[in-house]
Amino acid sequence: MLSSPLLTKIFSLSLLGVGCLALTPPAPPVSSYLLRPAAVFDGQDVHPGWVVLVEGDKIKAAGPATQVTAPADARTLDLPGQTLLPGLIEGHSHLLLHPYNETSWNDQVLTESVALRVARGTAHAQRTLLAGFTTARDLGSEGAGYADVGLKQAIEQGHIPGPRLLVATRALVATGSYGPKLSVDVAVPQGAQEADGTDGLIRAVREQIGQGADIIKVYADYRWGKGEPSRPTFSQEELTLIVQTAKAAGRPVVAHASTPEGMRRATLAGVETIEHGDGGTAEVFRLMKQRGVALCPTVAAGDAISQYQGWRKGTDPEPDRLRQKRESMAAARKAGVLLVIGGDVGVFPHGDNVRELELLVQDYGLSALDVLRGATSGNAHLLHLPDRGHIRPGLLADLISVSGDPTLDAKVLREIQLVMKGGILYKKP
Ligand SMILES: [Zn+2]
Repeated sequence: MLSSPLLTKIFSLSLLGVGCLALTPPAPPVSSYLLRPAAVFDGQDVHPGWVVLVEGDKIKAAGPATQVTAPADARTLDLPGQTLLPGLIEGHSHLLLHPYNETSWNDQVLTESVALRVARGTAHAQRTLLAGFTTARDLGSEGAGYADVGLKQAIEQGHIPGPRLLVATRALVATGSYGPKLSVDVAVPQGAQEADGTDGLIRAVREQIGQGADIIKVYADYRWGKGEPSRPTFSQEELTLIVQTAKAAGRPVVAHASTPEGMRRATLAGVETIEHGDGGTAEVFRLMKQRGVALCPTVAAGDAISQYQGWRKGTDPEPDRLRQKRESMAAARKAGVLLVIGGDVGVFPHGDNVRELELLVQDYGLSALDVLRGATSGNAHLLHLPDRGHIRPGLLADLISVSGDPTLDAKVLREIQLVMKGGILYKKP
């Protein structure tokens, strides 16, 4: 629930703006906060007895209570029994999708208007923020054009609450490789932008960047026909061209890929992260490690889709798809590939983002500490966000608190007590 008076103030200011002549963005908060939890997780380690001072939208100081002096007008927030930590960073979301067991992906792309999808997206953004995710890398509007750019602007301008967004806009697919696919007699809009060859790809990349893409996402493999396994889509030359064109404009490229050949080509082309990677082999993970390419494993999406297809978790034997995922994850970890923590949320409900962290601990044997480092400082590093992911003077005051110690038990992240983004309280205990 939104209960903060500051937030109420933002909304009334926005409403006032609409009614009057000018649309004035909300003024930044002037007050400072002294946050007094039981412990601080700074993105790396836990420090019992630390406090954090926030001034404006930044962290002013963090350290033992005896060493941090708050100004007289600072508002003190006592957080007994709680751990204060950096706002979580979602590595792979689709704010413009909702769970496939509600409406299939095909039907979302084909029958839901962009207006409906954006209206839903605003609710998704709010849920994401209140779940403690103050930043999200949103990897494709899936047929909703550049609506993700508008969502991002609405959040930045204070019209709706939501995480800070990095958006990929339409994403790139090779002609004929994506979906939806209906009868050959019916031309249907696709869930991503089709482009091929030198001219087509250079133009499409530049078009997306010009319209607001922070990231270029490319599908390096996909199933060409219904029921087929995934196969590579773009050639090596095409992928390399996409990366060169995007990089020249300062944008990283990320690749959807789950076949060894798609992953290999994307890695050689110079993408920064590979999404999913379900069929990755020891060899391709060694190549990724050599080239500094990170893996965003999205284990929660595979788990959810298997359940949508009828798998009763805990009762039925594990589906082949998940057994393969477990093997490829083990190979990725053995090769030392760095992980972006991101669940492909949208496939499963927004606001349930922490599911990815829980499954990595429960089903894939990572420690809660490693996963939490990944979802804070690790993601900040891999996504080039040096202004967040740690609790350190000068960084953004994107902070959350939970009861208990999330470095010992990822499940406590389900009960978010406090959410602050840029020094503004969106949820308080
Ligand atoms: Zn995705």
